[in-house]
Amino acid sequence: LFAGTTDFLKGVVAMNGLPDPDRMEVCFAGRSNVGKSTLINALTGRKGLARASNTPGRTQEINFFTVAESHYLVDLPGYGYANAPLAVVEKWQRLLKNYLSGRATLRRAFVLIDARHGVKDVDEEIMKLLDRAAVTFQCVLTKADKVKLQDREKVLDQTRKALSKHPAAYPELVLTSSEKGDGIETLRSIIYGLE
Ligand code: GDP
Repeated sequence: LFAGTTDFLKGVVAMNGLPDPDRMEVCFAGRSNVGKSTLINALTGRKGLARASNTPGRTQEINFFTVAESHYLVDLPGYGYANAPLAVVEKWQRLLKNYLSGRATLRRAFVLIDARHGVKDVDEEIMKLLDRAAVTFQCVLTKADKVKLQDREKVLDQTRKALSKHPAAYPELVLTSSEKGDGIETLRSIIYGLE
């Protein structure tokens, strides 16, 4: 599904810029610096595809990628910027909320969690938004290579516990390392298997 078939389609800053909902899509959300761009690049096998856009000016953009003409892969802007202006944050939240609650073709959201840090308050916020929008979400733990084997179970447990409070959460976790390639194929097949 992914090999050599992914392309950037457009960056969207308002609801009327969304592409037609003519195919299934999945979106990726996560705190800035969680490793979202790196993961999307690893998934699609295209290094420069998703750029780390860690500047407040670009926080409102929802980036659409086409995968094999059959799926959209949607890169939601990173959240949790300490220094983003309030107006920017509010505009982004509004767009995000409208997108999540009104997108019939959105099959699943992947909420990325840094395996070193676990679920934080800002992650809880996005999960609540997904609950309210009734969008099934699945947690993807990133940077697994930075966590010692014996500590992994702890973060997995903490994440499971956090998820148990969220009706829209899909229970299965995916532990990934974009650096080492762990979990990437698993995530691909999850996306591929969505109906
Ligand atoms: P984004 O802001 O969520 O798009 O984060 P980036 O993809 O830009 O990644 C943030 C930082 O984490 C970068 O320095 C990446 O090289 C690093 N990073 C991302 N994924 C991994 C990973 O799987 N393992 C390790 N060790 N570092 C990673």
